[in-house]
Amino acid sequence: MKTKKEKKIKQRKEINQEEKQERKKEEKTIKCDNCDNLISRGATRCINCSILHKFQEASKDRPSYEQLKKDIKELKYYTTIAKKYDVSDNCIRKWLKKYEKYS
Ligand SMILES: [Zn+2]
Repeated sequence: MKTKKEKKIKQRKEINQEEKQERKKEEKTIKCDNCDNLISRGATRCINCSILHKFQEASKDRPSYEQLKKDIKELKYYTTIAKKYDVSDNCIRKWLKKYEKYS
């Protein structure tokens, strides 16, 4: 026969274990900030969203895609557009490629 005290201790242990399991479940189901993809602990976004986020952050200092398209129409040459933004024409090509990829 077990004493009342022993029973109580056992119950408490079981509760603790349940709590631990709950916590483990929570850790495993962290969702991305931008979409519902599950991500690993410590991350805030899934790989796709973090790439997109980086691109958006980097785009802040750049002319918009619309602006670049307008520039191509008006200025016609990458080298001319590059001069306008004080970058290389390769840089303009890179910008356009990224815009095409993410838009
Ligand atoms: Zn995501």
